[in-house]
Parts: sequence; structure tokens; C-alpha cells
Amino acid sequence: MPDCHSSATAAEGRRAPRRPGLAAGPANDDTRVVQTQTSLQAPLPAARPLIDPFGRAITYLRVSVTDRCDLRCAYCMAEDMTFLPKSEILSLEELNRLCGAFIRLGTVKIRLTGGEPLVRRDVMTLVRNLGARLSHGLSELTLTTNGTQLAKHAEALHAAGVRRVNVSLDTLDAAKFAAVTRWGKIEKTLDGIFAAKAAGLAVKINAVALKGFNETEFDSMLAWCGEHGFDLCLIETMPMGEIDGDRTDQYLPLSLVRSRLRQHWTLRDTDYATGGPARYYDVAETGRRIGFITPLTHNFCESCNRVRLTCTGTLYMCLGQDDAADFRRVLRAGADDDGLDAAIREAISRKPKGHDFVIDRRSDRPAVARHMSVTGG
Ligand code: SAM
Ligand code: SF4
Repeated sequence: MPDCHSSATAAEGRRAPRRPGLAAGPANDDTRVVQTQTSLQAPLPAARPLIDPFGRAITYLRVSVTDRCDLRCAYCMAEDMTFLPKSEILSLEELNRLCGAFIRLGTVKIRLTGGEPLVRRDVMTLVRNLGARLSHGLSELTLTTNGTQLAKHAEALHAAGVRRVNVSLDTLDAAKFAAVTRWGKIEKTLDGIFAAKAAGLAVKINAVALKGFNETEFDSMLAWCGEHGFDLCLIETMPMGEIDGDRTDQYLPLSLVRSRLRQHWTLRDTDYATGGPARYYDVAETGRRIGFITPLTHNFCESCNRVRLTCTGTLYMCLGQDDAADFRRVLRAGADDDGLDAAIREAISRKPKGHDFVIDRRSDRPAVARHMSVTGG
């Protein structure tokens, strides 16, 4: 999705610092990933960072590590999804190598997403290998997750250098949670959230605002987040992929939600920004933040600093456009590091100015055919 998936760091939007250790990661304990070992010796960051045709520095890579998920959120997937065959999916080593190339070219922040990133087998190997780069060009490694597997992995994520996670939770009502995810159990996600907190990870709750579903819950969700020390980010539905249902029925403008919240909460403007589509406010009563991601009512493209890599090695230069670059082909054709870097620069030279999302009665087709679970939001 868009970006409450951006938890900003001071380093975001500019080049990686030369000094080591903004967030120290552990030693790389996976000797299988030879590329990592080699690249860690290289001077970083890149001599020529990635600048797109509109002068935007591309410093943020979002990586969808799998298209699979253990839930079927109604706005995200159809119930009966066909997932990709394994042969089309990049191995963890291939993903690691691609991430390494981006870091070499100035990427300072990587977010792992999906599908559900924590259902990919051995995903922690990738997390540990990327974590080992935190003192070597990368300044932040984060994750967007539905939280169902978080209780199992929270401590290992922290040990690998992850310091914050975004967890999707659209409602605090167990029956509604089961309905929107089609079969999820809220207890699992809540256990994951509190395990993350206990492990020392900062948690941001992401909730998609859905008309007639959770629109009366935002006051209580904001209070709950305040009580537990979480930021909250509300997201407008985006027209991505065919789902079972009509998106115009789901669409709830966040301008409306914000003015309703203002009747009970003091939302103060803040400079906090992530280069993404979220607009943040400080919540005076809780001391936490609330963000609003409004891709449909507010254009966020001017400051875009990110690109998205799917688990098949397809790089989307814009969440809302179909143009893409095929890095699986580049990797499997045996490209060396220079070839990989050149292919990345070529892709960035095609980054479009912005998206064309629209949800209205005249356009009953999604703006882009792929599901959010393919690009990872
Ligand atoms: N499975 C993980 C999760 O749910 O957090 C990561 C992947 S999920 C695709 C990333 C985010 O995209 C989630 O916060 C989800 O709510 C959001 N999302 C999915 N489909 C969306 C849509 N059509 N419009 C807006 N947000 C969407
Ligand atoms: Fe799965 Fe996340 Fe999509 Fe829900 S939003 S179906 S948890 S990928």
C-alpha cells in the first residue's frame, strides 16, 4: 500500500551517511549469501545516487517478498486467489542481491512487505542479511505485516536490526476482523502487536478506512493506540486489482474522517513527513501521531522517493502505473554487478511523474490490474 508504510527516519530522502551505525545490525551469519559479504567491503554510498527524470532522489525500496498471504482482506484480494508458481519467484539470495544493488546505488531504507512477508519460508534469512547492511549504507529496515506471525518473529526481527513495524488492523472488533479478513482471528494479530512492543519494536497501526465498516471506530482506535503507545495511520482504499465487490461501496474520503475526529481530538499540524502520501498530525491528548493516506484526494507524487520490487523481480517505478522493469530476467541472464546497476539506472530513468488513480461510478475497472498484495502497497 501506500505509506503509513513509511515510518520516516531523519535519513529518509537523502543519501546514506558515511558514518557507521545509525542502527546497528548483527553480524551476517548466513554464509550462503556471498554477494552480501563482498558488498559489505565496498565503500558506500553510491558515487552517483539514483535521480529520476523529475529530480527526485530514489532512496527507498519496498520489497514484496511473496504474493501469498494467510488472510484474504476483502479490499485487497479476492477470496479465491491463484498464487504464482515457485519458479517465478525470486529466491531469497536473488532478492538479497537486488537489494544490495539498490543499497550500492543510494537506497537508505528498505521495507519488506507482501502478501504477508512473514509467511515466506526462511524470510528471516533475508531479514538478517539485510540487517547486516544497516551499518553499510542502509539506515532503516522495516516491515509491513498483518501481525499473524509476529509473535513468533518479533524478537528475531529486533535482533536483526529492525526497529519499527507497521501492522495492519482495520478494526478492534473480533467479528468484524474475521469478516474483513474473511477468516482471520484478531487474537493472533493482537498477540503479534504486543509481542512486537515487548521486543522493543515501535508499532504503527495501519487501518484501511471502509465506508459502513469501520467508520464509527476511529475514535476508539485512536484512543486504543494512544493507550498502548502506537501511532495510527488511516488509508483510503485504492483501486488495485479485481476484488469480489464494488470499490465505490468501500470508498470513504479521509477528509470526512479527519473532520469527524477533530470533534473529539486536537490534531496539531506537524512537520513530520516521510516523502510518501501520508499527512501526519500530532494528537495532543495521546502524544502519538495520526497519519492520513489520501492517494485519491491528495496528490503525493511530487515528493515520491520510492520504487517497488515484487517477489518475481518486477520493479514498479510507480504504485499506480503499469510500466515495470524485469529484474528476474536480468539476474538469471547472469548480469554482473555493473550490469545490474545499469539496469536499475535505466528503470529509474523511466519513473513516471505520478499515478492516475480514480474511483468513481464511471470507471468500474481498477486503475491498475495487479492486486496490492503483488506490489506490497
Ligand atoms: N500483508 C501485510 C499487511 O496486510 O500489512 C502487507 C501487505 S498489504 C498489501 C500492505 C497494506 O496494503 C496493508 O496495510 C493493507 O491494508 C493495504 N491495502 C491492501 N489493499 C489495499 C487497497 N486496495 N487500498 C488501500 N490499501 C490497501
Ligand atoms: Fe493479506 Fe495484507 Fe492483503 Fe490482507 S492486506 S489480504 S493481510 S496482503
